[in-house]
Amino acid sequence: MTLPPRQILHLDMDAFFASVEQRDFPELRGQPVVVGGRSGRGVVSAASYEARKFGIHSAMSMSQALKRCPSLLVQPGRMAVYKDVSRSVFDIFHRYTDLVEKLSVDEAFLDVTGCQRLHGTGREIAEKIRSEVWKEVSLTVSAGIAPNKFLAKLASDVNKPDGLFELSPEEIDPFLLSLPIKRLWGVGPKAQERLQRYGIETVADLREYSIEWLEQQMGSWGPRLYDLCRGQDDRSVEPETEIQSIGHEDTYSRDLCDSDRIRQEILHLTERVTMRARKKGVRGKTLTVKVRYGDFKTCTRSATLPHPTDQTMPLYHQAMELLEKTEAMDRPVRLLGVTLGNLGEDDQVELFESPNNKDNENLDRAIDSVRDRFGKIGLVRGSLLDRGKK
Ligand SMILES: [Mg+2]
Repeated sequence: MTLPPRQILHLDMDAFFASVEQRDFPELRGQPVVVGGRSGRGVVSAASYEARKFGIHSAMSMSQALKRCPSLLVQPGRMAVYKDVSRSVFDIFHRYTDLVEKLSVDEAFLDVTGCQRLHGTGREIAEKIRSEVWKEVSLTVSAGIAPNKFLAKLASDVNKPDGLFELSPEEIDPFLLSLPIKRLWGVGPKAQERLQRYGIETVADLREYSIEWLEQQMGSWGPRLYDLCRGQDDRSVEPETEIQSIGHEDTYSRDLCDSDRIRQEILHLTERVTMRARKKGVRGKTLTVKVRYGDFKTCTRSATLPHPTDQTMPLYHQAMELLEKTEAMDRPVRLLGVTLGNLGEDDQVELFESPNNKDNENLDRAIDSVRDRFGKIGLVRGSLLDRGKK
């Protein structure tokens, strides 16, 4: 017996930060508006659709954006307001199901498979949510409806902004086959380049290849890709209530003996942890560093922070202090780990806002959006690390 298809919604606010600005300041409506820093290293963190017409997008440097559109209106951004709006929007999502997976402040998956009798079909629920969001916060949200997360996310993009698109099981193939492979989840620029060497440009091309071949080319991601290009994705929608801590660790193929390299690795791990925390909208109060030496002896050191945070640099400095309480700088290191615990919703944004803090937060946001766009990049913080040493 096969189960009936699931009904997954992907809901994504349109140009979120920029739209909130246009909502609150009528003189900005219909104008090219971006939210971001104006200073030398300022980055666009959101662009209105009017600004996008000039080729401006998030993660672009502000100087480049201003070159493309000299009359661009630059708003500094009001995180506390965006978070407040975000909470209202998520409250609306939760009226329909508890199965809400938050992807960021303005984006979520909902599993409404079991809600039909109470609230109607996936499409009807998406329509209701869209109209409630409009009525209650005067903003537009685009919706994708499909049998799984991967397809729902692609679908929400189809009629953006202020749109809705449903992908029924029989429409999946015609929709997918012509898509460029870069639209597949997990296919970044590198993978794209590798596949293009074999003339693979679209999903249809990719389907010609066996699961074994894909595994050879893409490693453990190969079988995943094999499924994705057939529109299959069985990941469940995961509400976030269960997360207690966020941690990352890496085992190195060769023991680390160089203190600069260790610093870089700690920064990289901290970055991965804080990026996930920011995506989930949580901050942590406990930081733990784990070290395994070349002889497999393991030690951990923890500290409690004065305030919960999700910012990379303060946590990195704290992690380095903890590392100094280990022998990591004097012995070969086989594994390093960083964990942020004691997590809570980050609703205390303004409590410890200092100019320095604001800088950190803006930089974190900029790096997140660059990384969302281009995949992992290790370069961005490099200069910071150097600066930290001076
Ligand atoms: Mg959005």
